[in-house]
Amino acid sequence: MQKIACVRRDFLHKVSTIIAKSHDVVEELKDNRFSMEPFIRMLEYKCRQYGQIFLKVDPRKSSQTCSACGFVHPKNRKGKIFCCLHCGYTDDADINAAKEILQRGLAILKSSTAGLAGSDARGEGTDGGTAFGQVYESSLVEAGISRL
Ligand SMILES: [Zn+2]
Repeated sequence: MQKIACVRRDFLHKVSTIIAKSHDVVEELKDNRFSMEPFIRMLEYKCRQYGQIFLKVDPRKSSQTCSACGFVHPKNRKGKIFCCLHCGYTDDADINAAKEILQRGLAILKSSTAGLAGSDARGEGTDGGTAFGQVYESSLVEAGISRL
């Protein structure tokens, strides 16, 4: 049992390092057999270590939300195809959800950098809002576009 735990920990370290060095987006899946929490913590500190942005994005209704116009409806999604009932935007359902998640992440980033611009007294690590620079934001956008 001890050995299995060591192998698993080693695996999580390797995977989190690979992700932290790239610009990948990770989807946190719910699985009752296994807690994602240790992995998420590893990923968070490794992103800091490699100068990457670590953001948690609320995925709720992302599969029902149109990434083009923002319209939310359960019937927007028909199996693997997303087709917006409002504007007609059509895409692979997973790609649409990924674009929506990216937009939510960018919105969080924009609001946190806007907050920083208004006050230079704010130090690093206050209320979870790390000092995100313009450079990081553009690299996140590029990473998102290149992968979608
Ligand atoms: Zn739409």
